[in-house]
Amino acid sequence: MNHADSGHKTANQTDLEQPFSSLPLRESLLKNISSLGYETMTPIQVQSLPIMLKGEDVIAKAKTGSGKTAAFGLSLLNHLNAENFAVQALILCPTRELAEQVSQALRRLARLMPNVKILNLSGGIPMKPQLDSLRHGAHIIVGTPGRVLKHLGKETLSLHKLQTLVLDEADRMLDMGFLDDIKEIVSACPKRRQTLLFSATYPDEIKKLSKQFMQHPKEVFVEASHTQHDIEQRFYEVSTQANKFPLLKALLLHYKPSSTLIFCNTKQQTAELSDKLVEAGFSSLALNGDMEQAERHQVIIRFANQSCSILVATDVAARGLDIKELPAVINYEIAFDHDVHIHRIGRTGRAGNKGLALSITIPSDAPRVCLIEENLSHPIVWGNMSELTNSDSTTFQPDMVTVCLDVGKKDKIRPGDILGALTKDGNLPGDAIGKIDIAVLCSYVAIHRNQVDKAYRYLQNGKLKGRKVNVKKLK
Ligand code: ADP
Ligand code: MG
Repeated sequence: MNHADSGHKTANQTDLEQPFSSLPLRESLLKNISSLGYETMTPIQVQSLPIMLKGEDVIAKAKTGSGKTAAFGLSLLNHLNAENFAVQALILCPTRELAEQVSQALRRLARLMPNVKILNLSGGIPMKPQLDSLRHGAHIIVGTPGRVLKHLGKETLSLHKLQTLVLDEADRMLDMGFLDDIKEIVSACPKRRQTLLFSATYPDEIKKLSKQFMQHPKEVFVEASHTQHDIEQRFYEVSTQANKFPLLKALLLHYKPSSTLIFCNTKQQTAELSDKLVEAGFSSLALNGDMEQAERHQVIIRFANQSCSILVATDVAARGLDIKELPAVINYEIAFDHDVHIHRIGRTGRAGNKGLALSITIPSDAPRVCLIEENLSHPIVWGNMSELTNSDSTTFQPDMVTVCLDVGKKDKIRPGDILGALTKDGNLPGDAIGKIDIAVLCSYVAIHRNQVDKAYRYLQNGKLKGRKVNVKKLK
């Protein structure tokens, strides 16, 4: 990127009170914004919207939950011509879940704009309905790189009329190995276009990517200062590595987060620490790169559906993990890099929810801790172990238990089938049933601990869609 051109901006307090009506947005968008209850712009919106609305390229770095989707969404909707039935905007996201979230958010923003078609093209779902929808035409495509590329290859998607390309969570897309796919997609876009890049961190690869694909981008950075509002960050120091575990236990029992993501720096550490936690009576699973895809999938499901309260992961393994409303992140090992630290703790305290980020350090971590502190707008808050109040319980168990059924997508099972069977025929209260995940060959149902035996008995004897099923509780 051309640094002479880039207006390097940082948010300050005066940014916080600006109304959307100060922007040159079309009436239907402004009206809808107030009906959504957005009173003022978030700092990243204040910084980026005026530039994006002028059609310029923007690189925006801001933490999760800062309102990036509405920022690029409002801009691209403002530029859209609904009468022109061609793909005018493409938003690339790292995961299907994120693409789904973005398309839903865009649909909400476009509520009062008639006839705007937004289509989701993500991997992991059948091609056929996507092909049908593409034949009917779409204005905006939200998708994952692999699947978008597949449609380009089949020539079922054309980007010739594209005006805006958005790379959302660009850092995560690169982490997930989408660089080549992204390059290929960009080469299918017209040269004259607006490119918007959103990212929570700003590593070198992103700088390279932006140099290659963007035209004199303006950089807008909303620094971590915004973080303090919703993340309570606290550091604890112990004298040796061996003293970390007792402190970790004390922290878990004091703060009692319903879900905690713990970071270690090596695969081996994740497995060892998780085993130790289980031995101590906690509910914990490890997530690392040594695991098979199927095992990894199961671990993520159990953590996300709250039948396992602790996940111990490496940074690499935690990539692509998309868990909403994570109450706590604990750094059992301090990250080697300040950006990685910010990325880790940015997983908690998303929009409106208060997050807790605890870091356990030993004296030799000092240089890394200093680096983190330099990038905070205030001194580090050190916690005191003696102030941790341990409840009478020595450990805690999650509210939910996962039951695994040997039927899945291949049997055309849908969540409603399982929910219906358990609540109607099995007579379970609806609120006893949590998340239902349907994989290809099997399904996972989170069931409240005090109802799980009843559900289990029912499933062992009852039928699903006329079929007997095998069930097992995951422990
Ligand atoms: P990001 O992509 O930066 O992680 P999102 O775009 O998903 O964050 O926004 C997080 C939440 O903030 C969403 O629920 C969104 O509806 C809400 N939001 C966005 N802009 C505003 C605003 N100006 N005022 C209030 N809430 C907002
Ligand atoms: Mg986002």
